Amino acid sequence: MSDSSTQICPVCGVKIQKMIGSDRVVFAHGPAGTRAKLWARVCKFVDNSQCINQDEKAIGAVTTTDYYKPLA
Ligand SMILES: [Zn+2]
Repeated sequence: MSDSSTQICPVCGVKIQKMIGSDRVVFAHGPAGTRAKLWARVCKFVDNSQCINQDEKAIGAVTTTDYYKPLA
């Protein structure tokens, strides 16, 4: 399957599907999320220019719900 609208971050190994409006991020575990969620949980910690999710404009606003919530 070659789907040009899907990108895989070579650093994080996460799939990003190009969508109208905001892109959809497919995580290895759990429900799909947004670029903001991916950034807050994964790409934020990556210091590697190969990461495809480091563009602030594409990421958009990161909200508190985008961060990991430790299990209470
Ligand atoms: Zn990444």
